[in-house]
Amino acid sequence: MGCGQRLPNGVINTDANGVSLKPLFSYAKEAGKATGLVTTCKVTHATSAGFAANVEKRGMEDEIAQQYYEREIDVLLGGGLRHFQRTADRQKGASIPDFKSKGYRFVQTKTELLAQASSPRLLGLFSNSHLPYAIDRTHDAALAEVPSLPEMFRAALQSLSQSKKGFVLQVEGGRVDHAGHVNDPAAILHELLEFDDCIPIALEYLRNDPDTLLIITTDHGTGGCQLNGAGPAYVDSGPALDGINDMTGSFEALEQKFIATGQFDAEVFTKATGIVATPNQADAIQATMDDPESTYLSSAMTKIVAKELLKKTAIGWTSNNHTSECIDLFAFGPGSEQIAPFIKNYELFVVMTKALKLS
Ligand SMILES: [Zn+2]
Repeated sequence: MGCGQRLPNGVINTDANGVSLKPLFSYAKEAGKATGLVTTCKVTHATSAGFAANVEKRGMEDEIAQQYYEREIDVLLGGGLRHFQRTADRQKGASIPDFKSKGYRFVQTKTELLAQASSPRLLGLFSNSHLPYAIDRTHDAALAEVPSLPEMFRAALQSLSQSKKGFVLQVEGGRVDHAGHVNDPAAILHELLEFDDCIPIALEYLRNDPDTLLIITTDHGTGGCQLNGAGPAYVDSGPALDGINDMTGSFEALEQKFIATGQFDAEVFTKATGIVATPNQADAIQATMDDPESTYLSSAMTKIVAKELLKKTAIGWTSNNHTSECIDLFAFGPGSEQIAPFIKNYELFVVMTKALKLS
């Protein structure tokens, strides 16, 4: 989507021969337009980088941060602070003072973000790694100063819309994917709802500035998450979905709490999930924590209570992997009528360059 070609997995705008392909944002900058990346992941993660950077491996996030600095991406909002700091492991590369010297306002809290949103250059990094899940931000008072995706989106629009020659902004609900990998039903639903809250903001923007193309889509599904028909005549699906309301935390947050103490805590588990773990399940979770070979405790926990989660939420999964279904694409505004009913992902590049009058 970011350069108009299909590429090997794991690269950022670099073809199979190692040739760099100019990303959309570089064309936009040449035409004098402002550019912005907003995500709940690290802002140096692959989806954001796919619109603005060139590296041979997506994990080269220090280099991606350096390229954002060199290429003067105007608005960067998300996680990934560690890729913008000088540390023992990161001696070179652009750091926050460099960005400030180019006129960026640097913000680290929701309050600072809202206060600085009219700055034409904005670097907002709200976590060392990815932002906490929406469900955890909603329920954990300690995370109240981490902005939501809609708050970051509004700030980005406020900043970028000052550009006289227009702008291109890529906004990602990046952690939908992570909740899919873990098969965490409450976490994914809250991530999806938060992304959904961005859509009326975008449509309102279009009403005020109709010369704007809005594209809403995803790059792939993860986990095969579906609300199953449940019960006689499927009438249990709706109440099951409502049952997610008494789940108050992600399995990732549980993982962090349990690993911090080395102990499974039945009360904390039930408060977050609404599920009472059986003694066998509690033992299995503790055994996973005690096993030095085990990696993702959150995924292990959703497997251990998979039956209870399915019964409670009616949400089923096909795997912990990316999935191959056709994905939704909605588009509004000038140029949207030219999008064919069935297209390949990379064909969106031309749609975007045309809308931006870059070709
Ligand atoms: Zn993924």
